[in-house]
Amino acid sequence: MDSSVRLRFAPSPTGPLHIGGIRTALYNYLFARKYGGSFILRIEDTDQGRYVQGAEQYIIDCLNWVGLVPDEGPGFGGPYGPYRQSDRKPIYVEHALALINKGEAYYAFDTGEELENLRAANGGNQKYDFVTRNQMRNSLVLSEDETNRLLKAGLSYVIRLKVPENQEVQIEDIIRGQVIFKTTELDDKVLIKSDGMPTYHMANVVDDYLMKISHVIRGEEWLSSTAHHVLLYRAFGWLDQMPKFAHLPLIMKPTGNGKLSKRDGAQFGFPVFPISWQPKEGESLLGFREFGFEPEALLNFLALLGWNNGTEQEIYSMEELIQAFSLEKIVKSGARFDFEKGKWFNQQYLHQKSGFPFIQRIKDDFINNGIQVSDEIAVQIFDLFKDRVLFFKDYLQLGKVYFLELESYDSEFIIKKFKPEFISVLQSVSEILNHLEFWNPEQIEVALKEFLKSAAIKPGELFPLLRVLISGIPTGPDAFKMISFLGREKMVIRIYKFIEFINTKKQEA
Ligand code: GLU
Repeated sequence: MDSSVRLRFAPSPTGPLHIGGIRTALYNYLFARKYGGSFILRIEDTDQGRYVQGAEQYIIDCLNWVGLVPDEGPGFGGPYGPYRQSDRKPIYVEHALALINKGEAYYAFDTGEELENLRAANGGNQKYDFVTRNQMRNSLVLSEDETNRLLKAGLSYVIRLKVPENQEVQIEDIIRGQVIFKTTELDDKVLIKSDGMPTYHMANVVDDYLMKISHVIRGEEWLSSTAHHVLLYRAFGWLDQMPKFAHLPLIMKPTGNGKLSKRDGAQFGFPVFPISWQPKEGESLLGFREFGFEPEALLNFLALLGWNNGTEQEIYSMEELIQAFSLEKIVKSGARFDFEKGKWFNQQYLHQKSGFPFIQRIKDDFINNGIQVSDEIAVQIFDLFKDRVLFFKDYLQLGKVYFLELESYDSEFIIKKFKPEFISVLQSVSEILNHLEFWNPEQIEVALKEFLKSAAIKPGELFPLLRVLISGIPTGPDAFKMISFLGREKMVIRIYKFIEFINTKKQEA
């Protein structure tokens, strides 16, 4: 147990969380749990222009669904709140003023037009830095009196970080090793915007410090921002309490180059969001939950997207993941998103399920879809299909044909495989089944195998045919189990309905 280990997941509520966000949350969670520390949710909503209604609740719903429940956060309590940055505005302003007093930050009064001119003079790049700041309207250039006069007059201003000249910023990243930035390449980032709101950099660093964050685990896209973050820790005099950084590899598209984007779901036909999201009325972006994923399977899949402990093991319980996880074993290169692999994980998880709560879940799903089943029938459904399901919803998909009228038969099978002499074969099968003494898969098997021997028909012809007339398609579980599960009466009816169907087709032809 180490209460000084404090990890935070710090999403911005600018839309639905990408699946990579859940991976980031998971790695933070695993690390915190491994060392008995805390997992904190902080909502970084200082960019009011990009704020999206409902996105914060969506983030919380996603974390709850996958079971990564924060120890501290908005709505979760904790000693370092508030955990929503828009509720902490005065804290950032106070800290920015402290930096101005130390000579590490300054007021900048430049108008939009002046900044445009700066951009134009720099070939489209508005680099407000240790050179250009001397040509602009800010408190480094203006006299103290003039600065105070402008502030009193209520002129719009921002507060900028005074990046030191010609220095190096070294980052010891746990995953990437040493990364060095030169301050000559860095601009004087805005810390407080003209609306009084902090920028990401300011709020992020102040909060990580005040919330006593020990490790920052986040996506690779934030690596370049870290240079400014280190400069802020230096400017505040907090270097000895700076968190350790670990920047995660990107999640790449299934094919080609480039990172998996929020738009890729539609293009590749798989979900990229944890749960479905409605950007507007009548539009919905598909989630893993709605696609049918078990949350544990999704987490296991994501855990291995960029991390492996050097063994062949792929299936981990949450406890095993917590024990095995280490930042040192995270790969540097991008991790390719393989949706088929994700489905495989789901299948493996469904295979592991058994027992009462799971049977109850199957039963509830049937009942909710208007099919009344008993516990006993639910157990049979489980046994019949457990080796064939990829997703939980497949139990209903595969099972409902036994309870409802069959809508159609696989026409390709009938055209290619059906022979007229099969009609009398089916009539015999119906007779045999109708007179069977005991109704169970074993008896059905004995009787049908005996029949196969006497009639000149191959098992490879009879069983696909029986499956088609039971479920519509020639593939499926063990035919004897299918017949037994369907029940004697229904089986006889289905044989006759099929014969009737064939006869009608003949007359039509
Ligand atoms: N608010 C940032 C995001 O949306 C957080 C980055 C960080 O973890 O520092 O991902």
